[in-house]
Amino acid sequence: MSTPETHAEHTIDEHPHGDDCGHEKVAHDDHADYVHDGHRHALHADHYDEH
Ligand SMILES: [Zn+2]
Ligand SMILES: [Zn+2]
Ligand SMILES: [Zn+2]
Ligand SMILES: [Zn+2]
Repeated sequence: MSTPETHAEHTIDEHPHGDDCGHEKVAHDDHADYVHDGHRHALHADHYDEH
């Protein structure tokens, strides 16, 4: 299920999350996460972190 990675990343080029990308957007403190196959992506600089 979960991996031991603490900073797994997806790049924005790989998949640019947005209002119409098909992933659910979830407000999380001062940013927005996108639900991605059981985990969440959070925009961090030029890439996405996984929560
Ligand atoms: Zn997306
Ligand atoms: Zn978050
Ligand atoms: Zn992911
Ligand atoms: Zn990061």
